[in-house]
Amino acid sequence: MKPEVEIYDTTLRDGSQGEGINFSVTDKLRIAERLDHFGVHYIEGGWPGSNPKDIEFFAQAKKKKFRKARLAAFGSTRRKEIAVEKDDQVRLLLEAETPVVTIYGKTWLLHVKEVLRTSADENLAMIADTVRLLKDHGKFVIYDAEHCFDGFKDDPEYALATWQSAEKAGADIVVLCDTNGGCLPSEVANATRLAISRLNCPVGIHTHDDIGLGLANALAAIEAGSTHVQGTMNGYGERTGNCNLTSVIPTLAFKLGKTSVPAGSLAQLKDISQFVDEIANIGHNSRQPWVGSAAFSHKGGTHVNAVQKLARSYEHVDPLLVGNRRTVLISDLAGRSNIVMKAHELGFKISNDTPELKTILTRIKQLEHLGYEFEAAEGSLGLVIHKILQHQEPPFIVDAYHVSMRRDGANSICEATVKVRVGDQLNHTVAEGDGPVNALDSALRAALSKFYPLVKKVKLTDYKVRILDSGTGTAAKTRVLIESSDGKEQWGTVGVSFNIIEASLQALVDSMEYRLLRISA
Ligand SMILES: [Zn+2]
Repeated sequence: MKPEVEIYDTTLRDGSQGEGINFSVTDKLRIAERLDHFGVHYIEGGWPGSNPKDIEFFAQAKKKKFRKARLAAFGSTRRKEIAVEKDDQVRLLLEAETPVVTIYGKTWLLHVKEVLRTSADENLAMIADTVRLLKDHGKFVIYDAEHCFDGFKDDPEYALATWQSAEKAGADIVVLCDTNGGCLPSEVANATRLAISRLNCPVGIHTHDDIGLGLANALAAIEAGSTHVQGTMNGYGERTGNCNLTSVIPTLAFKLGKTSVPAGSLAQLKDISQFVDEIANIGHNSRQPWVGSAAFSHKGGTHVNAVQKLARSYEHVDPLLVGNRRTVLISDLAGRSNIVMKAHELGFKISNDTPELKTILTRIKQLEHLGYEFEAAEGSLGLVIHKILQHQEPPFIVDAYHVSMRRDGANSICEATVKVRVGDQLNHTVAEGDGPVNALDSALRAALSKFYPLVKKVKLTDYKVRILDSGTGTAAKTRVLIESSDGKEQWGTVGVSFNIIEASLQALVDSMEYRLLRISA
């Protein structure tokens, strides 16, 4: 069945223009494969005329079989005053051998005159010639009307003439682009309505988020009748980014009731968002709508209490619909409900009537007062609860440690020794590292792995230091937050001390202990 709105993903082209994003050919192929499985309708792979990496991508992509998505090569209309057959950039588009070719052309006379430095008529011919040549080669042609709304505001008749030029030459879709990202939803809706009434082909929308309206503008066009939307995963893109598909897709499904990707893919939305972040090596944005880890997190005591009774009371949809989950943040505001919900999340059986609940709350408040913070340290919080609920011996105890540093010529060398006790057995280990914390981590891991081989899989993925009460200078306390992963699960732990090494060790010990208790739970 044809979807009501087609999704055109340009993460690999427009998205790769974003700050800090640099995809290799292999990265691009992996993302393309994932997007295909997810069910987007078009994957724009790159601009073969702009760099050799994109030519290589299309050469490799030819050998892949995509299930449903159609691969698009991106480029521009021919240069001015040259026959389209002689334009190298257009030739490269054909050589990419994709079923779809997307070209952009000028709508705005300001650009035609000041940037291209050519005539209004030559611009119309450049659009028509290029579309026609691509159609003659059997391509499905998408025409991206650049600076479309700015051009329309300046000279609506000329803007329309450019879109019609593309359509008459055989363009399969005309896409209206807010290239500078500064338009308002009402402007987008008006121009889209006019384009739809004057063109016979479908009309698409491509927006940027420069004033935070990328999604709103795309929706305005869709509500005005547009049936094709272009954007990127996680909103990657130049400047503040493109219209974010991880917001467009669920909004279409759950707010506008329109079909786009297969219904079964919606619950994979958070996964694909994280996958793309991982490949791009970009930190996950916790505040990202729909898929961010904070998108369904609750902190205030009354909210948590209400969500526990009736999720709908403080959640606009069920987080599971997009593969996300509800989380409860622990803070000074923490009431009994927060702790109970957090404990459930961590796998403890506990209710509002559990007698130990009061002790747990008091202990958390004491620790918070000392400078501990549990919002990003659910591992340490889990241990606090565990210790009060099940009066068990910890899996290991660090009896002693020693860290030393010296400099030898240009090299600085750090060494750590750790003495670990498990039951009545002792293990004493020495390790070197790039820094004191790294050395300590290696020594602790080496000592524990004799007793618990699974700690070899645990890796430190992030390390953050925060100075508390900085007014007191060097005597200030240090809070260390670390993130660990075993390849499947991630957890955070925290340590606080006047000594940064001691605080780091506490967080490291909690990390290992949490992992070991998870296994026995
Ligand atoms: Zn763009």
